[in-house]
Amino acid sequence: MLNRFNQLLDFFLPRLCVSCFSRLDYNENYICNNCFGEINKPDLIRLQHEYNRKFADDKIISGFTSAFVLEKDKALQHLIHSLKYNENFRIGIYLGKIVAQLCREIIMEWNADYIIPVPLHHLKKAERGYNQSFYIAKGIGSTLNIKLSHSKIKRKRYTSTQTALSLVERRDNIKDAFELKNTRSVHGKKIILVDDVITTGATISECGKILLTEGAAKVFALSVAIAD
Ligand SMILES: [Zn+2]
Repeated sequence: MLNRFNQLLDFFLPRLCVSCFSRLDYNENYICNNCFGEINKPDLIRLQHEYNRKFADDKIISGFTSAFVLEKDKALQHLIHSLKYNENFRIGIYLGKIVAQLCREIIMEWNADYIIPVPLHHLKKAERGYNQSFYIAKGIGSTLNIKLSHSKIKRKRYTSTQTALSLVERRDNIKDAFELKNTRSVHGKKIILVDDVITTGATISECGKILLTEGAAKVFALSVAIAD
C-alpha cells in the first residue's frame, strides 16, 4: 500500500538522490542504491586503530564503533550535509537505523542502558533549531530498543570552530565546555554517546568525562562516520 503510494507520488513529484541527483526508485530513500553502495565502511583493524588513537589514552570511552568512513565530496558527505543544512532531520532517523543494523552486534555487546546524543557543535547550528545527532540517536534507539536518556548534555559556553585547530588546540578549546542537566538517570548506568561524525574524538571524550563525573558506570562512543 505504502509502496504504491510512493510510486504514485514519485510519478508526480520525483525524489532525487542527494548525491548524484538521479531519480530515486520508490523503494529508495534520500540516496540511490548505487551511491549507497559506494560509501566506505571501516574494517575491524581500522576501528581498533581509531580507538587506540582517539580514546585509549584517557580511559573515558570504554568502546567505540562507527558504521562508515566519511570521504570529502562523496555520497555520505552529501547525505550528512543535507541532514544538517536542508532541514532534512528525517535523514538522521534514517541514518540511525542503518547504523543500528550495521553495528548491531557490538552495540548489543555493550548492553547499554541509555543513549545520549552529543550536543550541537556551534552556535550557528543551535540557531538552526535541531540537533542532527538527536535524530540519529532516535533511529538507533528505536531499532535496537535502547531508550534515550532524560539527562541532557548542554554546552556551558560556545567554543570557537574546531576545523582549523590542531589536536592539542581542539582538546583545549573543548575542555570543560559541557555540563549535564538532570543527572539522576545517569548514575550507575552504561551510556552510549552518539555523534554524526567523529574526527579527533575530543568532543565525545569531553562529554564522556562529564558522564563519568556524574557517576555513569561506562561510556561508549558511536557515530555514523569517522573522518580523518
Ligand atoms: Zn545517487
